[in-house]
Amino acid sequence: MATFNSIFPYDGAVIGTYPLMDKSDLDKKLIIAQKVFPFWAQQSFEVRASALKNAAEILRRDKDSLSGLITMEMGKLLEESKAEVEKCAVTCDYFAEHAGAFLKDEYVDAGYTTSFISYEPIGAVMAIMPWNFPFWQVFRYAAPTLMAGNVTFLKHAPNVCGCALAIEKVFIEAVGMEGVFQSVIIDTPLVEYLLDDDLVQAVTLTGSERAGSSVASLAGKLIKKQVLELGGSDAFIVLEDADIKQAAKVAVQSRMQNAGQSCIAAKRFIVTEAVYDSFFEEMNLLIGQLKPGNPLQVGVTLAPMARLDLAETLAGQLKESVSRGAVVATGGHFSGCNFDATILTGVQQEMRAFNEETFGPLAAIIKVKDEQEALLMANNSRFGLGSSIWTTDIEKGTALAKQIAAGAVFINSMVKSDARLPFGGIKKSGYGRELGKLGIHEFVNAKTITIT
Ligand code: NDP
Repeated sequence: MATFNSIFPYDGAVIGTYPLMDKSDLDKKLIIAQKVFPFWAQQSFEVRASALKNAAEILRRDKDSLSGLITMEMGKLLEESKAEVEKCAVTCDYFAEHAGAFLKDEYVDAGYTTSFISYEPIGAVMAIMPWNFPFWQVFRYAAPTLMAGNVTFLKHAPNVCGCALAIEKVFIEAVGMEGVFQSVIIDTPLVEYLLDDDLVQAVTLTGSERAGSSVASLAGKLIKKQVLELGGSDAFIVLEDADIKQAAKVAVQSRMQNAGQSCIAAKRFIVTEAVYDSFFEEMNLLIGQLKPGNPLQVGVTLAPMARLDLAETLAGQLKESVSRGAVVATGGHFSGCNFDATILTGVQQEMRAFNEETFGPLAAIIKVKDEQEALLMANNSRFGLGSSIWTTDIEKGTALAKQIAAGAVFINSMVKSDARLPFGGIKKSGYGRELGKLGIHEFVNAKTITIT
């Protein structure tokens, strides 16, 4: 029987084996979802909110075991796993409290006695999710989707099957029944089988450009709504009037947390020449203080990467960039999944470290003359997810932010997702929005009702 293995990235130990489901397993899951959807869709916001509040409580109650599972399956620091579980709980609470207001009937004066928009559930939403935030990526779509009255299927990444099944368990306990949230342990070829079912009306995918393009083509063929949250190569712009110490501190945090494996990590550090040396020195100092090691151990501050092939890809991007003239200022080596915190200077536009997503602890630094060149460099990217601008001149920062081609710009802080604010990208970073009011509106039928 075919299986997926979970591997502790720090030492390569196999910690779990999960048999793959086949078409008959999916048929059983579809039958359950078909029965449950009409029931769930008819529940009031209060009933659904109480289930989401339960989910938040369960997450907090089981935080230690769930965060241990995250760390064992994909290698992030245990403290980061705990913070991830807490963020999921906060988001369940947020949508439990606000979904009713976001989706209440919206009256529009259009010349009828009455006319309004009724926001209604659409069926099942299929989610294809990655391993880098194995709980957060799931709760980020699931909390609004379930509050909107939909049911859902999760196809998680093969290396985090334990997390996929643990999340399903959280929702079964929270809702008090099976079928509202179901995890499917399947290989790519069965994605089409599930997506083709009439109950499944939409797909949301977070992952690489390759995966996004492939699933979007399939969804287009089957006429299913899509939201794509793909990669990023976020610019972190440091202007000459920035608070350099604070900028460097946040730069290291943004690039190195989760071992650099975040779509919204700062990846291209675009620094004006007047402050280049002081920013570099400060960043280099802080990176030198990071302690790599076992992510379960207190005091370790740099986690291993999640899979060997990801470390190898990063090494390939590094090597190619060096062959074109970039300089390794610090780090640059890896052993298994353990990749050094690395700074690459002299990065230019034609290098892979500039024009691809670098998904690991590698900071590419680009020196520019002034803010106009910084803006050109920031926008010279196939991606457009987030950006961060560092300046003490808020008016200037805001004006620049409006010229950045990205889904979000954070002035004087790192790019973060937040349940209250819409999240998503433009260009090859994908389309659609998650979170906030816009996020919950992605997977509903905005039905027009008029009375004459
Ligand atoms: P993938 O994008 O391949 O995987 C993400 C999810 O998509 C997984 O569940 C994967 O499952 C699924 N998937 C991939 N291809 C298809 C397909 N054709 N049809 C259906 N599902 C599919 O990411 P990787 O883990 O291979 O990472 C590669 C690179 O992608 C990273 O180095 C990084 O640059 C980027 N990435 C970006 C993320 C982000 O948050 N923006 C998250 C993860 C990766 P399966 O593996 O079974 O195909």
